[in-house]
Amino acid sequence: MAIRPITEYPEGVLAKVGKPVTEFDEKLKELCDDMFETMYNDEGVGLAAPQIGINLRLFVMDCDGVKLVAANPEIIETSGEQSGPEGCLSLEKIPAVLPRPNFAKLRAQDLEGKWFEKEAEGYAARCFLHETDHCDGKLFIDHLPKMRREMIIKKFKKEKKLR
Ligand SMILES: [Zn+2]
Repeated sequence: MAIRPITEYPEGVLAKVGKPVTEFDEKLKELCDDMFETMYNDEGVGLAAPQIGINLRLFVMDCDGVKLVAANPEIIETSGEQSGPEGCLSLEKIPAVLPRPNFAKLRAQDLEGKWFEKEAEGYAARCFLHETDHCDGKLFIDHLPKMRREMIIKKFKKEKKLR
């Protein structure tokens, strides 16, 4: 197991649609172990492969009691609405309030390649949506109005300089 460096905004891989996961082998398991370790090390609740520079449709999460690996994730159902702060390890976890559906149903493959469906509400649903977005080359700030998006980017650049 190893902690991998986090890929940060505006690295190109974060804006690319990920390639499908096709090999459900030992290498994928090792990659997911590394992703969990990297996520916990940074006190995150979810991490997608593009965030460690790998252009794959894959994420791990451990959020609000929902711990899973999702390969080739899709959101197949959403409903309701929630509003709350959201942040991203690729943007120094600078929070922005972002409305999201309160319920989301995820369809994905596990480490063995078996398809599963999982429902979540609240924070875990937000995590499903945020991480699946990463697999589609989307960041949470892409959902924000331009002015608020630019404010987050400005804050992020400032924090990077202070580090
Ligand atoms: Zn993120």
